[in-house]
Amino acid sequence: MSEAAPAAAPETTAKEQPAKVFAGAVYECVRCGTKTTQEELSRLPEVKCICGYRVFRKARPSVVKQIKAI
Ligand SMILES: [Zn+2]
Repeated sequence: MSEAAPAAAPETTAKEQPAKVFAGAVYECVRCGTKTTQEELSRLPEVKCICGYRVFRKARPSVVKQIKAI
């Protein structure tokens, strides 16, 4: 009757992974056009461009699509 239940193994608690933000999201300052990533912005105390402007628009990550030219 003293059946000690085996301690349930925690599910991959030891695995520590850095919190991933949307690193793929790229934002572009509407004033100077400097592109920055969501990751970089999250590091800053406030969302602000190097030029001081705070308005960003979402830009597409620089993925170059290759189109076959016939
Ligand atoms: Zn700017």
